[in-house]
Amino acid sequence: MKTYGRSDQGLVRNENQDDFLIRPVESGGYLLAVADGIGGGPAGRRASHLALATIDNAVGTQVRDVSRLASALSLANRTIFEMGQKDPELEGMGTTLTAAVLYPDRLLLAHVGDSRAYRIAAERIIRLTMDHSVAGEMERAGTITAQEASEHPKRHVLTRALGPFDKVRVDVADMPWTPEDRLLLCTDGLTSVAPDEEILRTFMHYRGTELIDRLIGAALTGGGPDNVTVVVAEEIAGPGESHGG
Ligand code: MG
Repeated sequence: MKTYGRSDQGLVRNENQDDFLIRPVESGGYLLAVADGIGGGPAGRRASHLALATIDNAVGTQVRDVSRLASALSLANRTIFEMGQKDPELEGMGTTLTAAVLYPDRLLLAHVGDSRAYRIAAERIIRLTMDHSVAGEMERAGTITAQEASEHPKRHVLTRALGPFDKVRVDVADMPWTPEDRLLLCTDGLTSVAPDEEILRTFMHYRGTELIDRLIGAALTGGGPDNVTVVVAEEIAGPGESHGG
């Protein structure tokens, strides 16, 4: 398995409050995460960095249970909340966090906020996370469609994040994985600009570093209104397989 990650400030924001983490675990797996900080001043950037550092420390190298990942997110929430309580400059600090432990045959996933995980296989893209935003909750409840959610005026208003409150509910998933499956974790800087079909097309044509460059490029071509971060994990293409172009 190969992993790739890149974060870009975008074309409008004056700092990058996004961050990502990639590190190997046992059994050929990887711990992968993206975070999108919220809060004014230094708060957002501090929150996303602190969340990833906490996850990195709390998740061991053998993670055969998704509850381990969920506990790490809860710990990150408490750590950020307490820091926000102590320092008035950091009050209200928070972050999204979408974290995965990916083994060649299994995906463990935990998330809070509107950074997403996708599974891309052959010619299909499947969103694995529901946005914890006002629009995302309406979509989850079935009152609006995914298309309506993508255009909803409250699509950026988060209903859950790590940090603002002393407790948080973490969504988890545990599913089988195959060598054909490719994983994308990304912040809303990508998905607010590039629809799922465009992300799928990019995956069908590119792999590796060129793929993540093209995904970042799609966000920038779309105006780069936000920080944008992408993390990809995929098997190395076998002989005879297309490398795109
Ligand atoms: Mg963002």
